[in-house]
Amino acid sequence: MSLSRSVGAATTVAVLGVSALAVAERARPQRDAGVVDVRSKAQQRSKVVARLEQNESVEVVRERKGWKYVRLDNGLTGWVKGEKLAEVAPAATLRTSRVAGSKDVPPRPVAYGDYRIYMFDMGTGLSVLVQGTEFTLLYDGGSIDGKEVPDRLLAYLFATVGPSGGDGCVPGGDDWNAEPSTLRIDHLILSHAAREHASALPRVMECYSVANVWDQGVGSGDGEGAESKSYTAFLEAVAAEQGVSYHTYAAPDANARLTIGSRQVPLQGSWVRFSEGGFAVLDDVAGFTVLDSGVEAQDPSSIVIRVDLGGASMLLTGDADSGRSGRPDDPPDGAEKRLVAQHSRAIDVDILQVGHHGSDTGTRTAFVDVVSPSILLLSAGPYDMTSARAPSEEVVDALAKTGATLLRTDVHDSGPCDDWDHVGDDVRGPGGCDAYLIEVDNP
Ligand SMILES: [Zn+2]
Repeated sequence: MSLSRSVGAATTVAVLGVSALAVAERARPQRDAGVVDVRSKAQQRSKVVARLEQNESVEVVRERKGWKYVRLDNGLTGWVKGEKLAEVAPAATLRTSRVAGSKDVPPRPVAYGDYRIYMFDMGTGLSVLVQGTEFTLLYDGGSIDGKEVPDRLLAYLFATVGPSGGDGCVPGGDDWNAEPSTLRIDHLILSHAAREHASALPRVMECYSVANVWDQGVGSGDGEGAESKSYTAFLEAVAAEQGVSYHTYAAPDANARLTIGSRQVPLQGSWVRFSEGGFAVLDDVAGFTVLDSGVEAQDPSSIVIRVDLGGASMLLTGDADSGRSGRPDDPPDGAEKRLVAQHSRAIDVDILQVGHHGSDTGTRTAFVDVVSPSILLLSAGPYDMTSARAPSEEVVDALAKTGATLLRTDVHDSGPCDDWDHVGDDVRGPGGCDAYLIEVDNP
């Protein structure tokens, strides 16, 4: 496969808002240290101000004579004997930039341990790609825009992963230097069976070889609406994917047959069940954990995962939220309440994908405070969600106050992309202008 590709004439490279954020060094008790005392002074007999549990991590502010001055997640500070602490993971550097055309997409990560995260601009939808030298993970891919460019996601994947599939897979708009190939996506995760998360995924499975598909597995795609048709097409593509491992939270069918509407379609692969807390290895220092299936609750939401990439971490929430419209300072409910109550440490990450497109049904301040991200990914478009306008101005204002870098896909949705070209078909409409790249560099 050739790595050189050219893009339609007017494409300008625009890398905006380049910034570097250092993640502080963190430590936690050595494996055999038990519960560790945090003291008021760097002296053995000084007062104990807090105790660290085995898996509790703290920020290391400075060191002095064998003692470490640490800051706990609740803001409390104190001194800990240095020998009782182990470094959690070396700090990673995160750099953000806008992807305005295929030429802004660097070749795949070249160094083991370095990663790339993309939030594609799907219009009113969501799609996030995570790449390492050894794996590719795609979380969601869809749009509800009436004039959705069907191959927008394919164009982004051609640029980031590489051209794949036969002649019928080449997206319009850009001049791809595509040689025949079959490239692999290791993990494709559908947060839940909604059209703006699923509509583009059948084309992905048609053009790429997908090794693992993750799905709640609770819908059957029966019915006539666009929502249902989109999930039907997704299930048909899963069933046809040769050798796929299909991971569902719902119990697999004993005969590995997918129920699609009133039909029973045999799966051309294997079917495995996943559970909350399950961990998937991506490479030696990268992996993801399923924190919430979104299935068990009274208000079904999304598969929420924490992705660890060496010294950086990210929370992908899909449409997980607080269940109903409200204000940012309302107490968390629904999925956000569960995540805070059951996973307060695991949701403390560097990068947060803002749930439910930033609508007023979620992103409660008390939830975001626990996550304490340095980068926020917000994917939204001009069309309303079924129950809410997204993003909500109140939510955006509250996020701005956190001081984190807020990256939004809904900046250029009604016309051209300023002075650069859309990725994929250059039509006047949402999507294709405001994609972002986060480069994760581990030392
Ligand atoms: Zn959604």
